[in-house]
Amino acid sequence: MKPLVNRLTLIGLGLIGSSIARAARLKHVVGTIVAADGNAAVCERVRALGIADEVTDDLVAAVKDADCVILCVPVGANGAVAAIIGPHLKPGAIVSDVGSVKGAVVRDVAPHLPAGVHFVPAHPVAGTEYSGPDAGFATLFENRWCILTPPEGQDAAAIERVQRLWEGLGANVETMSAQHHDLVLAITSHVPHLIAYNLVGTAYDLESVVESEVIKFSAGGFRDSTRLASSDPTMWRDVFLNNKEAVLEMVARFNEDLAALARMIRWGDGDGLYDLFTRTRAIRRSIIASGQDTAAPNFGRGDGTAKTDR
Ligand code: NAP
Repeated sequence: MKPLVNRLTLIGLGLIGSSIARAARLKHVVGTIVAADGNAAVCERVRALGIADEVTDDLVAAVKDADCVILCVPVGANGAVAAIIGPHLKPGAIVSDVGSVKGAVVRDVAPHLPAGVHFVPAHPVAGTEYSGPDAGFATLFENRWCILTPPEGQDAAAIERVQRLWEGLGANVETMSAQHHDLVLAITSHVPHLIAYNLVGTAYDLESVVESEVIKFSAGGFRDSTRLASSDPTMWRDVFLNNKEAVLEMVARFNEDLAALARMIRWGDGDGLYDLFTRTRAIRRSIIASGQDTAAPNFGRGDGTAKTDR
């Protein structure tokens, strides 16, 4: 089969970049895979893993002949990387990214791209709480969504090429505006992570319950939260700082709803609690029915390979 992209350059070879490299090789969708990372130790590790055809810490050399470049660095680093590579991209090249926030990436990257270079931002909604090149795996994107947020007027052929690449990596593709993406992901991913960070932080700060008791008696809900709250600090700092408006809007609504729940508990409104818990259970069942999770019971009994969609 003819590769979908002849020469693909990945910048940032952590969980996502290294998973793209592995999946691209497994599925034969790319001709040559070039891996570029600012961290020499990461480059060394990628060489040892043998997941790319060429590996370099020179971002300029890495993009010179690339047909497609995918930025796989933390959201806050995309602008600086685009400024370095922009002048060296070949005409007709496609630039994409994998950032968990889209509006800020479009804002930071687009100004550095010369005319004739196509920009198709993307977000594979798949991940784990681990980071670095050893954390990646070839099936990470299998049957997961990848959301494209092409700016208006973007070249249709370039959008189609990126769509086919992600489908080739195993993902299902959906297209929406960057603004809508950021709102949807704020409630489905960003706020749940914020709540997990807060819950684990609160437990950590409790004076009347000692840390060893929190660990010893941790029930499913708390243990699941610790998994989210162990996610990469750089990645999540950047997500919150760059999706500020949508996250704050969702936090405000969340606080109102939490206050309503507290009121139901205070006034003994069992019917209210029961109704809400019945509706939320239906959402869980729809997620399982849509194939985005399994019905296997796993409160605190994961096998360590559970995917977390970000
Ligand atoms: P990661 O495992 O931490 O890898 C990021 C890599 O980029 C690291 O090797 C890092 O090097 C390198 N890097 C950082 N700044 C750079 C720069 N200025 N120039 C060159 N290389 C640089 O991160 P990840 O989890 O793959 O996340 C990457 C992107 O994917 C983020 O934008 C994130 O929002 C998005 N995403 C993540 C997930 C997830 O679950 N993790 C899911 C979907 C999308 P150092 O180690 O030296 O920092």
